[in-house]
Amino acid sequence: MKIIRSISKIKKELSRKKRKGLTIGLIPTMGYLHEGHASLVKRARQDNDLVVVSIFVNPAQFGPNEDYMEYPRNLREDAVLCKNEGVDYIFCPSVKAMYPKGYSTYVKVKGLTENLCGKFRPTHFRGVTTVVVKLFNIADPDIAYFGHKDAQQAIVIKRMAEDLNMDVRIKVMPTVRERDGLAMSSRNGYLSSDERRVAPTVYRALQLARDLIRLGDRDAANIRSEMRKMLSPVVSKIDYISIVDPKDLKEIKTIKGGVLVAVAVWIGETRLIDNIEVKA
Ligand code: AMP
Repeated sequence: MKIIRSISKIKKELSRKKRKGLTIGLIPTMGYLHEGHASLVKRARQDNDLVVVSIFVNPAQFGPNEDYMEYPRNLREDAVLCKNEGVDYIFCPSVKAMYPKGYSTYVKVKGLTENLCGKFRPTHFRGVTTVVVKLFNIADPDIAYFGHKDAQQAIVIKRMAEDLNMDVRIKVMPTVRERDGLAMSSRNGYLSSDERRVAPTVYRALQLARDLIRLGDRDAANIRSEMRKMLSPVVSKIDYISIVDPKDLKEIKTIKGGVLVAVAVWIGETRLIDNIEVKA
């Protein structure tokens, strides 16, 4: 496994491999890797000749009062996980290399980025799509892997890749959870032990929604209200509890077909997101 920081070096290396006919799978991450990331790597390992994990805490996707500075970083442990999973390259550029002085170009997907997390993090998705385009241009992957944990992000990136005629397939892998249901996240380490104990309520609220839909409830407002009742006692703030059409991420009133049930809540000072897809 090679750890490469230089953009020109990895470009040269990967384009040489591509000319030889090797296929490339890319997993964009912000590091502090866990089993959720590992599941993407495992899939990429099956699908491709070469697996590239990018590790870059992207300042452009953090708002001014968000946790960019605190975001956990541990390249040494990330490298161990990557090596164990058979990764070929870790690409970990500096902020200066990715956004040099004079940097001025951003990619923005309209519509899909305006609901759910977009309402509460107005510049987030612009930062995500911009860095992902840069990573695609640098690594030129055949397939790029994203987690359903960040469902809106995956939908936005699929839209972008299609709209911009990119030659990359986007694969979205299921959310990996702790045994108690909490979705794995690099941010879970922010939780105190008391907060960690109640954090699985987020997934339980999603399961409640799924159960109500399966029992025949088609009234999204009622389901959201039942979820709110479950979440309110344990969270410090609810950003949103939403039931949306997975195609356009617009809020649904009456449930029919497949829906995306998504929540963003604060437990103490930590913002957690989670979601599930449910078929009526
Ligand atoms: P991050 O490092 O948080 O930016 O995540 C990098 C990629 O890993 C994104 O595509 C995430 O959706 C995905 N990911 C993060 N957590 C999980 C999880 N628990 N299960 C599956 N994928 C995940």
